[in-house]
Amino acid sequence: MPRDPVCIACGQPTGPGPRLNRLPDGHTCPSCRDRLLETLPPVLPSSISELSFEEWAEEDEGDDYPRSA
Ligand SMILES: [Zn+2]
Repeated sequence: MPRDPVCIACGQPTGPGPRLNRLPDGHTCPSCRDRLLETLPPVLPSSISELSFEEWAEEDEGDDYPRSA
């Protein structure tokens, strides 16, 4: 008997369609949110660009500018 896939973060079913579950404390499940975002078409390219920018800006911090003495 096949089991429905459940989110490892909130333990609630992730299907059949994309859904946004909530944690018992009322917060949106971050794992479900990420999964949902991945399935959505890029309807908000500006906000996605901001997220991407923050990510690589953090990673590249201090690495991009070799300072000469
Ligand atoms: Zn979840």
